Amino acid sequence: MTYSAIRKLTGIYDGKQVVLQFYRSQHVDESSKPLVITIYRQICNDFLFGRDYEEFVYSLDFKDSKMIYESVLQVDKDIRFYTYEDKNVKEGITYAYYVGSNLNDTVYGPILIKPRNQQIWMPYETMIWEMEQLADMHPNLVKITNHGKSVLRRDISSITIGNRQHIKLGFIGLIHAGESGPELMLYTIKKLLKENGELLKKIGLSFLINANPDQREKQVTGTPWYLRKNANDVDLNRNFDAQFEKVEFGYGYRTDVYTSPTYRGEKSVSEPETKAIVDFIEYAMPQAVFVFHSLSSICTDSFLLSKYSKEDTSYIKKCMKYLIPYTKGFGVKSEPSIYFGTSCGSLPHYLYSKYNIPAFDMELGEVDDKIKQMVIHDQVTIQLMEYYQEKHYKGIREVIKACI
Ligand SMILES: [Zn+2]
Repeated sequence: MTYSAIRKLTGIYDGKQVVLQFYRSQHVDESSKPLVITIYRQICNDFLFGRDYEEFVYSLDFKDSKMIYESVLQVDKDIRFYTYEDKNVKEGITYAYYVGSNLNDTVYGPILIKPRNQQIWMPYETMIWEMEQLADMHPNLVKITNHGKSVLRRDISSITIGNRQHIKLGFIGLIHAGESGPELMLYTIKKLLKENGELLKKIGLSFLINANPDQREKQVTGTPWYLRKNANDVDLNRNFDAQFEKVEFGYGYRTDVYTSPTYRGEKSVSEPETKAIVDFIEYAMPQAVFVFHSLSSICTDSFLLSKYSKEDTSYIKKCMKYLIPYTKGFGVKSEPSIYFGTSCGSLPHYLYSKYNIPAFDMELGEVDDKIKQMVIHDQVTIQLMEYYQEKHYKGIREVIKACI
């Protein structure tokens, strides 16, 4: 039997290069001469975001890999791990890495890493830095408020712009990690501050732009497949205190099964991210809440209401007050696209059943097939991002005007 000379291979994309880290396995004598490390790589042209997940690694054949490194690697003396940087990578391509040595060992791997463009997948640190910059530039118009921490102890904070005595609109992004929020919202926030000072004197808007920072960061740093749940494997959009006990079967999954992509959690509001969102709602008490979903950092003017609000005509009428101007500003359709689709435990259902607040999950509506494929399969370009940033800005600006 042969063993692996390598233990615990992990890797991330840091915005410039892929960084692999691994340890020497217990099979290798520590006192022996330095290990000659061999690194192999293959390009996974067949990997498709939105279709392929972890199981994709089993379809790969090591024989299709090429050696990209063979030599002695420096070991970090204090923590005893090896680091290898692959600078020869391109964004948008999925790579599989294997690591072996000169000990006639079993090759370790593969692990898959997809470098992504950070204008389309913004890192957490960049988002925080941008929020702080805006607070420094506009001390009277911008306020950052902390609402709690994620499972992995990242701060979950909102940014409120405009008149804080009259916060009328709330926005929440990234309840699902691989979906949308910061890239669209920060553009709107900046443009409203730059060009709409007068409007902001009358009305306040609060944005919790990254509600699921841990898993989003994994997506940003290279996890190739779609991530949805938080670091405890709970679907935050099933974890709210709104008919939580009722089991739902959306997408063909059960919400009461831990391995399910829609797992609701052990009890309602069990997750720190859910608690932070509830704290945000209680802080801002907005008159309407827009929750950004869809995929690959882009959503459109397609609005999902609680599926239990279908017969509630006065609630629907109240919702239309916000959806008509958003749709008008967005500039594609003449009538709002609304669907009654959000489940028990979802944020829109919670806001509807507890507060009667108009609340919408925003998905990818009807768009042309080319755009649809780009969004569903993580092939969004900067140009497409800019196109939708401007559309959301115009939609939100129309809603503000309608609220004044
Ligand atoms: Zn979603």
